[in-house]
Amino acid sequence: MVSATALIVPEKDAPFQVTEVQLDSLRPDEVSVQLKATSICATDVAVQHGKIPLPFPIVVGHEGAGVVLEIGSAVSDIAVGDHVVLSYNSCGECKPCRQQKNFRCIETMGKNFGVQRKDGSQTIQWNGKPVSSCFFGQSSFCNPSIVQAASCVKIDKSLDLSVMCSMGCGIQTGAGAVLNVVKPTERDVNSLAIFGIGAVGSAALMMAKVVAQDNPGTLSKIIAVDMDKERLGLAREFGATHCLNPQTDDIQAKIMELTGGEGVDAAVDCSGVLSVINTMIEVIGTGGMAVTVGNPPNGSKATVEIFPFILGCKTYCASHQGNSYSKSFIPYLASLFKENRFPIDRLQKKYDAEKVNEAISDMTSGAVIKPVLIWA
Ligand SMILES: [Zn+2]
Ligand SMILES: [Zn+2]
Repeated sequence: MVSATALIVPEKDAPFQVTEVQLDSLRPDEVSVQLKATSICATDVAVQHGKIPLPFPIVVGHEGAGVVLEIGSAVSDIAVGDHVVLSYNSCGECKPCRQQKNFRCIETMGKNFGVQRKDGSQTIQWNGKPVSSCFFGQSSFCNPSIVQAASCVKIDKSLDLSVMCSMGCGIQTGAGAVLNVVKPTERDVNSLAIFGIGAVGSAALMMAKVVAQDNPGTLSKIIAVDMDKERLGLAREFGATHCLNPQTDDIQAKIMELTGGEGVDAAVDCSGVLSVINTMIEVIGTGGMAVTVGNPPNGSKATVEIFPFILGCKTYCASHQGNSYSKSFIPYLASLFKENRFPIDRLQKKYDAEKVNEAISDMTSGAVIKPVLIWA
């Protein structure tokens, strides 16, 4: 067995522990990856605290990037030495997967939150016992890591892996919600409101700006909503034309005012706060679309008043991973980064991997938007 360094959560609410673990042998559909960096997403922390209940001990991490060390016998689209960003996992066989709509794979839950291989085995052992692994097909809080080939996205070797790692989940979710779900050009979207300016909301803004620049007349009003003044300052730099703060603004009244009483053509909620989601649903105009990306506590129900939705032919929908087919969408986002049009590095702060607990506390306090762990 190969040994590896893992950041493990031994039990619910325990801090991450840096420890040595053993890796199982590689299966035909798996890839071994020497990680360079793994960024932290709110979902990792939700698992640590049992908000997404999974068995402990567990190795999470689902925004990794690194270099391929070894490939399984059935892997054909990845080679040893390739640089890869690790994204969500999917079965590759169901109807959505066959149509490159892996983001709504019928096995999404099991493939990403099942925390074991399909046969029930684990990729990681700790103190001689298997631990919950295969998180998002990667458990990239372990280096090297055994990764499902479906989670691997090959990228250009000139790109900085410590920046690219964040593309795997939150960033593609925000950017995809705008480009792949709202579809601003196809649906003639002039005004867009984005609620919650963390990593996901910032990526949504950056993508909105790209679309607006490439298609004059589209997305001329991009409204950012957040309670934090500093984040609203950043939002303006990333592309927001208007910034609203619920602490000082009546959001619904302001959005109506900004849109001549018509409401926005589209809105995306990245906050995951139920009251904010309900406000988003209220502020879309006729023909409008409200998209939920942020996840409120399990069991939450949004409120849609049906009659105005009928009369206005409005849509309320949700999106997983911004409806992104990672294997082509992440290289596209990377090309935008290279052109200085998608500055996600401005959201990131780098930490040595063993400083994971410090990085998480900086993210939780709001001091840092996207902490990145760098592997030695
Ligand atoms: Zn599938
Ligand atoms: Zn995530």
